[in-house]
Amino acid sequence: MSKFDFKTPVIYILLGIILILLVLMRRMDESNNVSKEQTLEKRIQQLESKIEDVKNIQKQRPPKIEPETQQKPAYKGRIAIIIDDFGYRNDYVTDGFLALKADLTYAVIPGHEHSYFFSEKAKKAGFEVIVHMPMENTGKTYGEEQFVLKTDMDVETIQRRVRTAFNQIPAAIGMNNHQGSKASADQRIMSTIARVLKEQNKFFVDSRTTVETIGETTMKIFEVPTASRNVFLDNDDDEEKIAAQLMKLVKKSQEKGSAIGIGHVKPKTLNVLKKHIPELQKEGFKFEFVSKMLH
Ligand SMILES: [Zn+2]
Repeated sequence: MSKFDFKTPVIYILLGIILILLVLMRRMDESNNVSKEQTLEKRIQQLESKIEDVKNIQKQRPPKIEPETQQKPAYKGRIAIIIDDFGYRNDYVTDGFLALKADLTYAVIPGHEHSYFFSEKAKKAGFEVIVHMPMENTGKTYGEEQFVLKTDMDVETIQRRVRTAFNQIPAAIGMNNHQGSKASADQRIMSTIARVLKEQNKFFVDSRTTVETIGETTMKIFEVPTASRNVFLDNDDDEEKIAAQLMKLVKKSQEKGSAIGIGHVKPKTLNVLKKHIPELQKEGFKFEFVSKMLH
């Protein structure tokens, strides 16, 4: 019995050790397998993520092209066109201008039969509206007796007239001058206008009806946002000549990055714009409101 008693625990211990070893081996084996599985899984994951990356790149390709075409540096030139002398008429010509598919700025003379009506209609149609302020010429100054700014007027009269113009054309966010070859060269007149524009938070575009104009420099002194006309489109009422002037404006926009042209409410000017604006847009020129070209 005692012999048997002595051997049995040893056998049990040995059996136990063997069992433990077996279990350990099995575990090692399992963990080996697990790590193999893990590396396999990792590889699969890596492959999958690579496939995803490729898919994503393919997906990104079409939208990548879109923002590129929408980016501004892609434009060949930025062009602002102001059409002057609205307010006199409300007919097929004014309607024609309101049907143009471009951001254009329409300058309305205050005090005329259609001034308010047209300015509201233009704003509603998505165009930019400014006051086309009558100013004294060196030669004869025609019409707009209630609004024209003259060099012999006192400061109060000039201020009142500018304020009244904006009251009558509430859609207007800025101003340019109608005629004014004398008044736009007058420091007192231009400073008075600048103060009112500053107070009303409006901008001034110098139509440059004289080389002696001090419009832009005066506005800068009074910190009124400003710019100047580069090209007159329709001094000659002839479609070929208007088109040639438009091309001059286009060329200038290409050289300088942007350029400002001024035309008038005339059927021939309308015809030229109707024909050439879509072509120029296709060629990569951008038509913008003049308010985007101020400095
Ligand atoms: Zn004018």
